[in-house]
Amino acid sequence: MVPTTCRCWVEVSRLQLAGNYHAVSAAVGPDIEVMPVVKADAYRHGAVEVSRTLAGEGARWLAVSNVEEGVVLRQAGITAHIFVMGDFLPFERPALIDYELTPAIHSLAQLADYDRMAAALGRPLEYHLSIDTGMSRLGTRDEPAALAQSVLDCNAARLQGLMTHFASAANFESPQTAGQIARFETIRDALQAAGLSPRYCHLSSSIPVAYGMRNAWGNMVRPGHAIYGYVSPARGEAPTALIQVRPALNWKARILEVKDLPAGAQVGYGAMHTCDRATRMAVIAVGYADGMMHRLSNKGKVIAAGKLVPILGAVSMDLTSIDITDCPQLAIGDAVTLLGCEGAVTLDAQTIAKAAGTISYSVLCGIGQRVKRIYV
Ligand SMILES: *Cc1c(COP(=O)(O)O)cnc(C)c1O
Repeated sequence: MVPTTCRCWVEVSRLQLAGNYHAVSAAVGPDIEVMPVVKADAYRHGAVEVSRTLAGEGARWLAVSNVEEGVVLRQAGITAHIFVMGDFLPFERPALIDYELTPAIHSLAQLADYDRMAAALGRPLEYHLSIDTGMSRLGTRDEPAALAQSVLDCNAARLQGLMTHFASAANFESPQTAGQIARFETIRDALQAAGLSPRYCHLSSSIPVAYGMRNAWGNMVRPGHAIYGYVSPARGEAPTALIQVRPALNWKARILEVKDLPAGAQVGYGAMHTCDRATRMAVIAVGYADGMMHRLSNKGKVIAAGKLVPILGAVSMDLTSIDITDCPQLAIGDAVTLLGCEGAVTLDAQTIAKAAGTISYSVLCGIGQRVKRIYV
């Protein structure tokens, strides 16, 4: 299905999302719960459609960053367990409860509050306790004995999970991950000694799953990037990746104008590019407002007629100019690929990130609201 009414759009493959989810599930095996991360609008793949697809493939848990993201999924009819990873503020409490979202609790003060909420409600509320094992972001840094006591002190809040998050999972030269795992295990053992055995222990995002770090899997994993088809390259002596995943998204834009420029013509804001030959240029319907990063000015490439061609001059808010001298067959209305593949030529988020000096996550999450989404 080729959309005829879009200027700029992404095509998301449900089949590829499902394939990536099953690749992760197969790697960890049947005893480990896979909780796909669909925060940030599923890394811009569309949280509702992605959640429907993954729930249809068997995902029983989905992870979001905040309450509002969870509410959107509930309102769309998603009935899977929804885990809120990124903390919540007092004004978000009613929705957290009304929409039956399960929170990570990041401090003992917050745990006491949550317990009072549950008591006021008159029914138990479940939570996962989030431990800062060394990343120094969210999570409690309290000592194991204090943690165990606070969990035991709760009357209505029920400990369902214990979690942490790694700071340097991709860096196999760093001892940080091993230290974080050891700290997590110390706390898990202390809770166990106090008679507390949470149903789920989870530490791992995509990278520890992909590189087979089994001692970091617990009995639940939280892959995001891998579900969308990416495993970041590792630093140091990483084992070969366990899983084969492929990007599930192609991003395209149409040609708005084609023009022939003489050698010496200056292109775009600031005349950042001067043509060194007679150049056929196309103006395409994407700009930095859509997520085509300004930093790709004069640097990035797109795929036009199956070839990588350069971006000419500055990326504007709504428009980008490209060199199509070598693909003269292209005409107004034809589509070019900004991210994805055409035949054997691919341009993925990692390649684009390298050109822009950023990370692949940011390339995906940067795809703008204005870009239509089509599911294929
Ligand atoms: C985003 C996030 C994940 C998923 O990370 P990926 O690298 O995309 O797999 C897992 N856990 C937490 C706490 C996160 O914030």
